[in-house]
Amino acid sequence: MTQSALDLVIAALERIREKSDHEPRASRTALARLQAADLVTVSVVTTAALSDCLSPTARHLQAAGNKADLLAAVRERVGACTRCAHLACSRTQTVFGVGNPNADLMFIGEAPGADEDQQGEPFVGRAGQLLTRILKAMNFAREDVYIANILKCRPDVPAGSFGNRPPTPAEMQTCRPYLVEQIEIIQPTVLVALGAVAVEGLLGTRATMRELRGRWHIYNSIPLMITYHPAYLLRNQAPSEKRKVWEDMLQVLERLDRPISERQRNYFL
Ligand code: SF4
Repeated sequence: MTQSALDLVIAALERIREKSDHEPRASRTALARLQAADLVTVSVVTTAALSDCLSPTARHLQAAGNKADLLAAVRERVGACTRCAHLACSRTQTVFGVGNPNADLMFIGEAPGADEDQQGEPFVGRAGQLLTRILKAMNFAREDVYIANILKCRPDVPAGSFGNRPPTPAEMQTCRPYLVEQIEIIQPTVLVALGAVAVEGLLGTRATMRELRGRWHIYNSIPLMITYHPAYLLRNQAPSEKRKVWEDMLQVLERLDRPISERQRNYFL
């Protein structure tokens, strides 16, 4: 870095500190990238410093753009990944994630099924359609939130057999770093883990849904709500189970400071 560029960055950071009650901050993603690169380039630091001088709207747009670029880079690596040789052979394609890179709300499932493997998008089968209905009841479109799985490849099943199998702990452990990167980039306000397998993949915690759901957990300082996987609701159509998921989603809406109508409060999925 030349002295003049360094002076520019320091001057910009000083101005921010003078104008604000808070110290200038770097995101965890930015820190991770700097640590990984072990190198501070003029352009990265200058861009980061100058972005703090932009209006909130411009900053929001710039962050969204950067997040999309960062996610695209991870998506490219996932698309070429062969860490699980057996899954790399059996998959039709990887299933990275879908939605708003700047989402406040991020859903995490366990792994792609046959429909997702074919279409390359998470939660597009029957369970996914139910998730879309849940989102609609929350006044969200799929495009408003971000949806991803622990595993980016469909767990293989014997040739000629139907259905899906859950991912193994070893498979989840291998693929987890990609999800961690997605969360680091998106930095959602609230995370929702769908089902006990997703929780095991994310937190390494094995417990029953009875023990896990309906209350707040924390993942890397981000509030995490755990609820049933939509596939469970397709298997168990009892109104009491549907209501439990909806009550979990009401807690999510409250945490996001979203308005909740009387109709929503009384809603049954
Ligand atoms: S499951 Fe994840 S780690 Fe394994 S091959 Fe697919 S993308 Fe790579």
